[in-house]
Amino acid sequence: VRVPAPAPARIIEPRVPVVQPLTESQREALRASPFAALGLDERIVRAFVEEGYEEPTPIQRAVIEPALDERDVLACAQTGTGKTAGFVAPILQNLISEERGREIRALILAPTRELAAQIGERIQVYGAHLRIRHVVIYGGVGQHQQEIALRSGPEILVATPGRLLDLMNQRLVDLSGLRHFVLDEADRMLDMGFIHDVRRVIAALPRDRQTMLFSATIPPSVATLAQGMLFDPVRVSITPAVTTAVGVTQSVLFVSRDRKRAALEELLLRDRSIAQAIVFTRTKHGANRLAEQLSRAGIGALAIHGNKSQGARVRALGSFRDGSTRVLVATDLAARGIDVDGLSHVINYELPNVPESYVHRIGRTGRAGADGIAISFCDEGERDLLADIERFIRRRIPRLEPSAPARATSPVGPR
Ligand code: AMP
Repeated sequence: VRVPAPAPARIIEPRVPVVQPLTESQREALRASPFAALGLDERIVRAFVEEGYEEPTPIQRAVIEPALDERDVLACAQTGTGKTAGFVAPILQNLISEERGREIRALILAPTRELAAQIGERIQVYGAHLRIRHVVIYGGVGQHQQEIALRSGPEILVATPGRLLDLMNQRLVDLSGLRHFVLDEADRMLDMGFIHDVRRVIAALPRDRQTMLFSATIPPSVATLAQGMLFDPVRVSITPAVTTAVGVTQSVLFVSRDRKRAALEELLLRDRSIAQAIVFTRTKHGANRLAEQLSRAGIGALAIHGNKSQGARVRALGSFRDGSTRVLVATDLAARGIDVDGLSHVINYELPNVPESYVHRIGRTGRAGADGIAISFCDEGERDLLADIERFIRRRIPRLEPSAPARATSPVGPR
């Protein structure tokens, strides 16, 4: 299990990599890789191979070539599909071949700090053999460090909309040299009420640029936004019904509301195959309370949600990633962008109100072909939510026997 380092507390500093030369036979192997066939530069292919990627995922297959050609892209794809590499790799490559200057040439907007930090980490990984600087900025922390980082002349800026606008209004960010723009998780961005900020940012960008929009779903609000900002885009859709089926074994346990917590404790205490789990609640308050209750029952748990300070979130995520905390109790928003390699279990302590969130939640496990288990508790008041989810994913989730919640292992095939 590869556990990535926790996100830095404040900012990802630009770092100039040390590039090791390759032997001729290594170069040949890179040239033969399916990533090279998509037109990717050897140095980026090398980073992918070093990450253990063997083949492009479907979204990468669909997006990389047109994105290298600087086409606009409208992609319906959720986290877990490999979309980040789909837009980061072509941007890196186009930046290598474009003229150099100390100006921001690519902007990636993300709805949450976690997602922004994670995209920054991916840029670091995929750009390991390139000399391209990036900076990540987000709200909730002081802006001083970010100002300093911006002065170092990054070519790529990853940002959440609010903080970006703040810095733009203070004239600390100049986007006049921008060539590539990505709006990631556009649906969530609009759900979180960022539409006006996003529109203001877009209005300040040069018109002559490439734009790529990624969204897990394309509701009318996203379609309208896309229409106004994309020119003749390549359209790609990676449907949730396919992605939820891959690698994640899903099940539902019917349990009454007043038995729920006991059932969760029982499951976690009895089933030692659950090395670590993300447990989802609907509310921040519920997440705090549940984390405390689990801790009292001897199950190491921490809560992560939007009301926690950035420091507390980074610490919780760090101790989950390094294995010192067994359970992370999260709300939907906080969990967006949390990427823990090798996470085996997702438990829905409460079902989400929006069926799409179910897909996002279980997408925390079984990432990129790994196996994962998703167990959903459903109480008497949540039957309608379950029906909505099953309609959305177009499959029936198998029911677990109440007496044997630990045996959640029968694979789910497509209906
Ligand atoms: P994303 O959807 O961009 O959040 O990526 C989901 C996960 O898939 C991340 O952990 C990536 O490291 C991983 N990943 C991306 N592309 C590939 C690939 N071609 N092969 C294997 N894993 C990948």
